[in-house]
Amino acid sequence: MTKTKDGLFVVFTGAPGCGKGTQARILKERTGICHLSTGEMLREFAKQNTPLGQELKAALERGEFATDEMIIEMVEQRIDAEDCRHGFILDGFPRTLPQAEILEHMMKEKGIKLNCVLEIQVPDEIIMERILGRYSCMKCGAGYHDKFQKPKVYGVCDVCGGTEFARRQDDNRTTVQNRLINYRLLTYPTIPYFERHGLLKTVDGTGTIDAVSGKINEILNIKL
Ligand code: AMP
Repeated sequence: MTKTKDGLFVVFTGAPGCGKGTQARILKERTGICHLSTGEMLREFAKQNTPLGQELKAALERGEFATDEMIIEMVEQRIDAEDCRHGFILDGFPRTLPQAEILEHMMKEKGIKLNCVLEIQVPDEIIMERILGRYSCMKCGAGYHDKFQKPKVYGVCDVCGGTEFARRQDDNRTTVQNRLINYRLLTYPTIPYFERHGLLKTVDGTGTIDAVSGKINEILNIKL
């Protein structure tokens, strides 16, 4: 596949609950580029009634990572697809140093230049409150929060009118604590790595969704 040179190829990184998914969805709406969430891909995979699907489901519920091999294969297949031709936002990948190294290698091989790795910074005490309150519409996936983003009409999705909502299985206090430990231990080392490679940009993720999105547009030079 030939990639365009003027595409937008970015990575959104940061602790669980920092707003990667929310901001990636907004950027996708504005630019039309592909949003690739490895967490979403894994949750879909974990729905399968196969031994591997069930094993993965249990691992996700404990807040454990999937293997680098599995993730890398999934991502490589996805970024080769036609809809990623003009760019992608990688959300939740790379999450370990080996994944970061392989991503750089893959990009080089495919002749794609990564524009930047954007770290969304949010302190731990805010993260817990954000994650424990979030839920989404089961029909269209629109995201809500008990405190920060309620639907306009109680129990009805603003986007599609759906009335059924769900919380993620891994959005409970114990699992979030494990996810934060894994973030510090396994994902955080990718930050200095990307800084050394001249790719790192950081954004303060503590403001409102619109405020953070505005700052991201500035960093990525997106004109509205
Ligand atoms: P997320 O939706 O990004 O919060 O991801 C949900 C869960 O999927 C994480 O807590 C991990 O267990 C797993 N996961 C997502 N992306 C990766 C990755 N790149 N490598 C390993 N595990 C991942």
